[in-house]
Amino acid sequence: MNSQIYRLALLSKIDDELDERKEEFGDLPDKLKNIEKRLEEAKIRFEESEQILSDNKKFAANAKVKLKSLKEKEDKLSKQQFLVRNNKEFDAITKEIENIRDEYGKLSTELRTTGIKEENLNAKIDEQKQDVKSIESELKDAKEEFNTITNDQDEDVKLLVKKRKDTLKKINKEFIKEYNRIRDHTLDAAVRVKRNSCSGCFSSIPPQKIVEIRNNLEMIFTCENCGRILYPEDIIINDEDIFG
Ligand SMILES: [Zn+2]
Repeated sequence: MNSQIYRLALLSKIDDELDERKEEFGDLPDKLKNIEKRLEEAKIRFEESEQILSDNKKFAANAKVKLKSLKEKEDKLSKQQFLVRNNKEFDAITKEIENIRDEYGKLSTELRTTGIKEENLNAKIDEQKQDVKSIESELKDAKEEFNTITNDQDEDVKLLVKKRKDTLKKINKEFIKEYNRIRDHTLDAAVRVKRNSCSGCFSSIPPQKIVEIRNNLEMIFTCENCGRILYPEDIIINDEDIFG
């Protein structure tokens, strides 16, 4: 029972068990990744809007200060206009006042636009906050589902992983390489000969080969049809071999 072929058969059964447990998760791991990605994107959108809102508020605060100072400047110039000594000075001050009023008008318009923008932005931010919350709750549910399956499987998986590690240590490296190569495209890489056929693809095996398989337990024989590693019919791996 310590032959290389027995150990390969054992490894294959352990991997079957692990694959089965992985299948129980279905598309849940992909779903989790997808929700996490969506959550990250929603958070970025929300943070971007918050940034724009904060920039808008800063602009509005600065604009108010600036408007006040423009108003003061205008008042001061208006008073100066009474004290001018000639037309040239009068015209110069008039021009300056016009410029200030112009600037004041432009800035006031901008400030009003910012106010409207802020209202829209607040509505958008509320929506985005809701989005983040709803995706977070979706993620929580999916994680709970994932953890339930994980907890149910925990003991078995720990045993299987340990048994797999121990088994791998006892198998020839070349055989492991061959096993992994086959497993890349065929999950059940080592299968039992059953009623003179490969139990992976059900094609029949020549009698001479069956004898060779039975008599050479330190060699790898593969199915000519599907390429799986074949092990003799009398090697039967049961639960005790795997979990014991
Ligand atoms: Zn086959």
